[in-house]
Amino acid sequence: MKQDSPRLRAAPVLVPMPAERPYTYAVPEDIMVVPGSIVRVPLGPREVAGVVWDGPGEAVEPRKLRPIAQVFDCPPLDNAARRFVDWIAAYTLSPPGMVARMFLRAPEAFDPEPWTEGLKYTGVAPDRMTAARQRVLELAGEAPAWTRSGLAHAAGVSLTVIDGLRTQGVFETTFLPPRPVVAAPDPTYSRPELTADQAAAAAALRDGVEAGGFGVTLIDGVTGSGKTEVYFEAVAAAIAKGRQVLILLPEIALTQAFLERFQGRFGARPAEWHSDLPPRMREKVWRQVSEGSVRVVAGARSALFLPFQELGLIVVDEEHDPAYKQEDRVFYNARDMAVVRGRLGNFPVVLASATPSLESRVNAIQGRYRRVVLPGRYAEAALPHLRAVDMRRAPPARGGFLSPVLLEEMDRTLERGEQSLLFLNRRGYAPLTLCRVCGHRFGCPVCSAWLVEHRFRGQLVCHHCGHNETRPEACPECGTFDHLVACGPGVERIAEEVVGRFPEARTIVLSSDMLGGVKRLRLELEAIANGEADIVIGTQLVAKGHNFPNMTLVGVVDADLGLANGDPRAAERTFQLLSQVTGRAGRTGKKSLGLLQTYQPDHPVMRAIVSGDAEAFYQRETAEREHAHLPPFGRLAGIIVSAATRAEAETHARQLRRAAAPAKDIQILGPAEAPLALVGGRHRFRLLVHGERRSDMQGFIRALLANGPKQRGSVRVQVDIDPQSFL
Ligand code: ADP
Ligand code: ZN
Repeated sequence: MKQDSPRLRAAPVLVPMPAERPYTYAVPEDIMVVPGSIVRVPLGPREVAGVVWDGPGEAVEPRKLRPIAQVFDCPPLDNAARRFVDWIAAYTLSPPGMVARMFLRAPEAFDPEPWTEGLKYTGVAPDRMTAARQRVLELAGEAPAWTRSGLAHAAGVSLTVIDGLRTQGVFETTFLPPRPVVAAPDPTYSRPELTADQAAAAAALRDGVEAGGFGVTLIDGVTGSGKTEVYFEAVAAAIAKGRQVLILLPEIALTQAFLERFQGRFGARPAEWHSDLPPRMREKVWRQVSEGSVRVVAGARSALFLPFQELGLIVVDEEHDPAYKQEDRVFYNARDMAVVRGRLGNFPVVLASATPSLESRVNAIQGRYRRVVLPGRYAEAALPHLRAVDMRRAPPARGGFLSPVLLEEMDRTLERGEQSLLFLNRRGYAPLTLCRVCGHRFGCPVCSAWLVEHRFRGQLVCHHCGHNETRPEACPECGTFDHLVACGPGVERIAEEVVGRFPEARTIVLSSDMLGGVKRLRLELEAIANGEADIVIGTQLVAKGHNFPNMTLVGVVDADLGLANGDPRAAERTFQLLSQVTGRAGRTGKKSLGLLQTYQPDHPVMRAIVSGDAEAFYQRETAEREHAHLPPFGRLAGIIVSAATRAEAETHARQLRRAAAPAKDIQILGPAEAPLALVGGRHRFRLLVHGERRSDMQGFIRALLANGPKQRGSVRVQVDIDPQSFL
């Protein structure tokens, strides 16, 4: 085999722009690059960081090439990562440059972390001894090197004492390598005793990891059955094998409890990765993942784009969660992309959920995924008893939203000293404000949406674009004072009702727009887990994964809320959300109850949840999807055309539709004005492409875009393969 390949004179470089292919750059004499090298290159008047790509690159006359400015001292992106970029770009119809950009989100991390100055004990004796010096010297030999302030702190002396000793040659200057952001996890640190079911599931996962190779396993087990406990065994096996592990969580900023649990099992925390991480920390994590000193990352969907070199397992917890879908620039579903990453990297992927997505469940039933089932809750914990509250028969008092049936149970729960959770997936005080005199409704000036009143903040807010205005005293239309009314409830309004009814109870409202942000949320969640609240009122934040030991009543304020929105997944989503929420109750063996306030107690979703017969629900839903050729039995893609004027958007959408080549297996629906017809001042039209399971959707859409009109003026076209949202 030939050892030395000819030195590259020119190299293709993918830059973080909407570029369809890599650009070619000259490689100067003093620079060596390989595919995956992260480099600095000139682009127009600027310089950007890009990645050396594979293949010969475009043929450009050598004299015209601009040179690569610098190769960063950074491990190159490995082949699997580069194929991952190509794959996502092709699948989502996004420019590869924009996908590569997701790998380059921590620019400061391309340079190695600086070593910090430290002190090394030389053994030289100081000229005279003091008590302070004595304390320093007692410690000095215990570590190979110290930081100046670390040593001062440990010895309980001032920095001057340390500096004095240094001047005398008792310490010499040395350099310390960057500190790891987390300690190394120990797979044998604290092994749990698994139940027979759990042990069997864990063995299946462990075998998969030890054997290596690609495969997907779905852990399907009710809330509290020990799914986490079980997939930790797969994590342990991967760590023991010397591989890195990625655990994806839908709401990482809130999963303090998860991190602690991980630490309990492995003796160290995983590195975190999410958008709330301070920039310096992001850079450290990125760098240490690429150098391999971080072995396990727990992160949000964007953690898929960390520069792992030895990735050997991905776990996707709560795999059904809609938060895994990114709907911005590159539209992708992190759950699906995790599976792709496993295939490209040839390692196993584990999906876990108490309410799996229909897609994953069908994949398991049809044999593409392995499925392990954990049928019961761990130990004596029983699932809550569930009941529908028929709001037609037991309506709330005038002006209220809580049925007497629910209020009575809250009373009893309070008396027992236990906690209640009220769930309503709506932030703010009221979703609509209107004038009782002239009927004026407060809408967003740039979106087709009503403004939501946030009473704590005294504002009317658009939940789509963030527009906000102070709630006025008088109607802007007719000028009448004090006749504005709030219509419908949000969590703040439920809190008002609860405080009025249970003034003695300690009540907490949890929603993502709370002042104080993630930090405060974490504290509040901890307080709840410690029993420092009696009644918790929350949005879907509270549905996800938390373990509140003393919570024995869950009331769903409006169980019908998710059913009305014309989304093909509405039933599935409602089922999942309500099962997750009611699953918060009774996690420690106390008897518990879930009440669902509904105007449609006979709706199949309500019946399925109340009966606890998830299997029947899934079967019915699967049959309906199959009948309608909807995912996973058919394929969907959305094309969203937006523009500054309605006419521009509509015309462009119509022309796109006309550009479609006829296909036997693929239909186009629309264009229709989007349900959210106006967002941030842009008018929106939607086309829906509907194909068979095996249809080449990407080919069809690519051709349509190529044959269609050029994007002119303010027009923007976005493609959403496997859409989750139809708004
Ligand atoms: P899930 O992820 O399925 O909701 P968890 O793994 O969170 O379930 O388990 C629910 C609770 O039961 C947790 O508090 C967990 O620590 C406990 N648990 C589950 N299995 C075991 C076990 N084998 N030994 C000790 N505790 C367990
Ligand atoms: Zn708006």
